[in-house]
Amino acid sequence: MADLGPKRIAELIAPFRVEPGRKVRLPRDFDPAATPGANGGDERAILAEGIRTLAEYQARLAAQDTYGLLVVLQALDAGGKDGTIKHVMSGVNPQGVTVTSFKVPSPEELDHDYLWRYQKALPARGVIGIFNRSHYEEVLVVRVHPGILAGQKLPPAARHGDVWARRFREINDWERYVVENGIRIVKLFLNVSREEQRRRFIDRIDVPDKNWKFSANDVKERAFWDDYRQAFEAVLSRTSTEWAPWHVIPADDKGYARAAAAAVIAQALIEIDPHYPEPTPEARAALLTARATLEAEAPGAGGRPGSGGEPAGSVPPVGEAASGSGESSGSASAAVPTPTSAGPLPGPVSAPGAGSPASPTAEPPPAPAGAALTKKALRTAAKKAEKAARKAAKAARKAARASAPPTR
Ligand code: AMP
Ligand code: MG
Repeated sequence: MADLGPKRIAELIAPFRVEPGRKVRLPRDFDPAATPGANGGDERAILAEGIRTLAEYQARLAAQDTYGLLVVLQALDAGGKDGTIKHVMSGVNPQGVTVTSFKVPSPEELDHDYLWRYQKALPARGVIGIFNRSHYEEVLVVRVHPGILAGQKLPPAARHGDVWARRFREINDWERYVVENGIRIVKLFLNVSREEQRRRFIDRIDVPDKNWKFSANDVKERAFWDDYRQAFEAVLSRTSTEWAPWHVIPADDKGYARAAAAAVIAQALIEIDPHYPEPTPEARAALLTARATLEAEAPGAGGRPGSGGEPAGSVPPVGEAASGSGESSGSASAAVPTPTSAGPLPGPVSAPGAGSPASPTAEPPPAPAGAALTKKALRTAAKKAEKAARKAAKAARKAARASAPPTR
């Protein structure tokens, strides 16, 4: 397993970053065939470790529900966007990820301002959203093919003057707004060479299972290579900002590109540093109450023996099952402690009817990570919880005796 600690990640991705304000020339400044930082071909191990990091941080991101992460993927055709998404996100819980592929805008989308559809597709808090192509098409394909701009139904003021300088400013402003509101942005340009694109196109033609990936239009677009290169240079030079910098990933080697992309995304998540939420004292007290309810429902504890019982949260009157009356001798609240302070959950209270003695001192389950209150508060809460557990165990024993079938 590659050591992909924060230091190694930082070293690995440093050469990809476009410093804000830097004037970028392609391919002079970023070699598509380079593989910096890969020591003796450990890309696979880096990717595996990156995927593991992503999965771990994504779970925390979802639990914390405060920040989101938007991954913007741009590349020319056959640059490796689809493969990167497939491999890099392979270990992440699908519930925590959205992928949006942007195609030629629909009539409905053209009826709105050009950023509308991208705003609509932003990830929610707790989610990693991937833009497979993105709002940058609005300053790439739209710039390379002026006819597209003409079809965008823009008012005259938006069509004249320096459209591209204005759009760069608007995109930077919009991204700043998004970042300031908790959605971090990672922008990746998969930088493939012209020759590697040619080889991949031929491969898509030669391998029947890859034919579907190829469109005759791809070769037509390739003829605009220089226009795209210039458009990308402008994008990288004008929209790499402190709040949303670009990373140019060398993409001629697919394995390296995937590992590098995983490292940049992992770095962003590490910087967000999401944590599992700490329950408030009230929430913790509610947890303890619910737990005691569940303990009281243990078979033989006087709740609903062996029946699965009431749904958690509802409190069965102790003794009801045996007496057959709606009235209960022992009240549920006797078996259900209502702690008023936070503290570790009490240990399991064994049902006396099940043959094992109540054990209020049994090992408590591990407290949820991050339940860090002050030490004093924790001690007090722990004592209270233990007392509550003992009380619950006692009540459970009493209830079990009360509900036992009468001996003849
Ligand atoms: P693909 O990614 O191969 O499925 O192709 C999607 C196509 O949609 C590409 O040719 C893009 O250039 C095109 N496209 C994406 N966004 C826009 C846009 N905003 N305006 C015009 N064409 C776009
Ligand atoms: Mg295509």
